[in-house]
Amino acid sequence: MSKVALVTGGARGIGAAISIALKNAGYTVAANYAGNDEAAEKFTAETGIKTYKWSVADYDACAAGVAQVEADLGPVAVLVNNAGITRDAMFHKMTPQMWKEVIDTNLSGVFNMTHPIWGGMRDRKFGRVINISSINGQKGQAGQANYSAAKAGDLGMTKALAQEGARAGITVNAICPGYIGTEMVRAIDEKVLNERIIPQIPVGRLGEPEEIARCVVFLAAEDAGFITGATITANGGQYFV
Ligand code: NDP
Repeated sequence: MSKVALVTGGARGIGAAISIALKNAGYTVAANYAGNDEAAEKFTAETGIKTYKWSVADYDACAAGVAQVEADLGPVAVLVNNAGITRDAMFHKMTPQMWKEVIDTNLSGVFNMTHPIWGGMRDRKFGRVINISSINGQKGQAGQANYSAAKAGDLGMTKALAQEGARAGITVNAICPGYIGTEMVRAIDEKVLNERIIPQIPVGRLGEPEEIARCVVFLAAEDAGFITGATITANGGQYFV
């Protein structure tokens, strides 16, 4: 039987590319999403991938969602923590609400999703947890104190959990995309994108969601078991750690 992969925020943007790549690699995929029913229905109709709606910011909803996915499809072997949001503002204009929403989704969301799955992975002595962080969690970004903090937190959690999971056959790795041409990035003012952001990318273009998805498929594989606690940067040469 094929392994089950659960991708949060898996019906749009980078997550959709990840869901499709994992399906093409032979996994049975469940794609979680937050609220965009129309996009999720379209995604299922086009790909045949089942979608599940809950917020990763809500621990109880995550536990119930995981239980539902496992009842429908079987135990989750691969978890991709991809769901993420931005609420950008310079720090002096950032509200506590903007801070909280981003931390709740982008950082606590990784705890909320990984925690209900972790015990089963330990029992089965196999698991792959792949966290989608960001270049801005590595280098920090003005206007994104909340996002940079959450994404840097994801990298710390990745390294801690890698140590805890190692003896149980669970690898935990992170991917730090640079600027990828999804709705999240297309929402940036076009002038800023063309005059300030793209010129900073040595390859001279935005990345494609599929270029992140191929990193996920690599890390998810059974024979990637010696890679844990690692961060793959995929940013067109924009930043080196
Ligand atoms: P999009 O905005 O295109 O898609 C975000 C996805 O996350 C959607 O599927 C959305 O669901 C889902 N989502 C948002 N909040 C929640 C929530 N509370 N619970 C469950 N799902 C949620 O984002 P991208 O594809 O661009 O980004 C994907 C990941 O990659 C994010 O973590 C982002 O931070 C990271 N990243 C993106 C970069 C980029 O350049 N695009 C660069 C670096 C990192 P719904 O469809 O229902 O709205």
